[in-house]
Amino acid sequence: MATTLFIQRGDIAAWLADTAATHTVYAPLRDKTGVRFHRLCAQDAAAQTQALELDRQAQTPPKNVLLPACETLLEFSYAKQEDGSTSLDVQPVMPQGAVLLFGPRPCDARAFTVFDRVYDAGRGKDPYYTARRAATVVASVVCTRPEQSCFCTAVGGAPDDTEGSDILFTPVQDGFIVRPLTQAAEAVLRHPLFTEAAHREEEAADVCAAARAAVPCAPADFTAAPEPVAALFDDMEFWQSVTAKCLSCGACTYLCPTCYCFNITDESNGLEGRRLRTWDNCMSFQFTLEGSGHNPRPTKAHRYRNRIGHKFSYYPRIHDGALSCVGCGRCISSCPVTMDIRRIVHSAMQRAQCATPEQAHE
Ligand code: SF4
Ligand code: SF4
Repeated sequence: MATTLFIQRGDIAAWLADTAATHTVYAPLRDKTGVRFHRLCAQDAAAQTQALELDRQAQTPPKNVLLPACETLLEFSYAKQEDGSTSLDVQPVMPQGAVLLFGPRPCDARAFTVFDRVYDAGRGKDPYYTARRAATVVASVVCTRPEQSCFCTAVGGAPDDTEGSDILFTPVQDGFIVRPLTQAAEAVLRHPLFTEAAHREEEAADVCAAARAAVPCAPADFTAAPEPVAALFDDMEFWQSVTAKCLSCGACTYLCPTCYCFNITDESNGLEGRRLRTWDNCMSFQFTLEGSGHNPRPTKAHRYRNRIGHKFSYYPRIHDGALSCVGCGRCISSCPVTMDIRRIVHSAMQRAQCATPEQAHE
């Protein structure tokens, strides 16, 4: 396969419609509430792609594709045996089929690498996540129209970042210059609508350079945040002051492409039931409420300290410095009281810098 390909803008719909015959395809579509990732129906994909939207950020990230908001992990049933004993039958419900996720911005694709380090590495691999990850081709589109709340370049990313993606589509006037990044790309790019375009690589590089320059928060650098944020762990005065207006509504966690906490519950009806996994929310009081009634994170200040600490301190400490924030800005644009994570991390870095070393580590 050629290293660089081209597809005309008007041919994307036909390509997605054809691919929907062999893959479950997700793409960002305009709907009544804005832009969201929708599953294309094989029979109706051509019509659905009329609403394809690649110029605006989707309000919700596509993390549902790899980590569903609610999924059945297994089904179980009990049966009475003739000898009076009870038998238990357990059937795992594993993800099935190939998937194409088309159109995430590079920050949302990079967010999958945050999950990969937790659910697809080491001894504790999550079989459901790893099955979905292996079956999913992630085809990102270079972000040329960042939102005012975007800050990917401040957390080690870029609007043309390739981490977490299998294919990178770079928009140009007449279509997209397409760069396959992994072997997985081949399954969806072997299509007659793609033509060789090695001669247009320079054009793609120019678009990427302009995209990087357009990120509003380009000069900030939060990759040095882990130590300062850790140093402020016991400074509750700081955490109380920065979270005074927070409502603990949890919108920031549900809309975050890198938040991956979940809860597990069993539902049963008579002798049959199923085990469900659903997203959880660390901004909720109940998240750490113990059976005894004790809660180690009793106030929103404690919970927000954990949210910032996890993304900018604890996670990087055990994952070679990688932050678990990709700078998508959704927690800023969706917060009902305009909490701004950029300002809070910046304030934390400044406050730790101003404190004497003794004060900072008290
Ligand atoms: S969205 Fe805003 S108000 Fe709601 S929990 Fe997050 S920071 Fe607090
Ligand atoms: S913390 Fe906010 S800016 Fe960072 S990845 Fe999550 S939603 Fe995006």
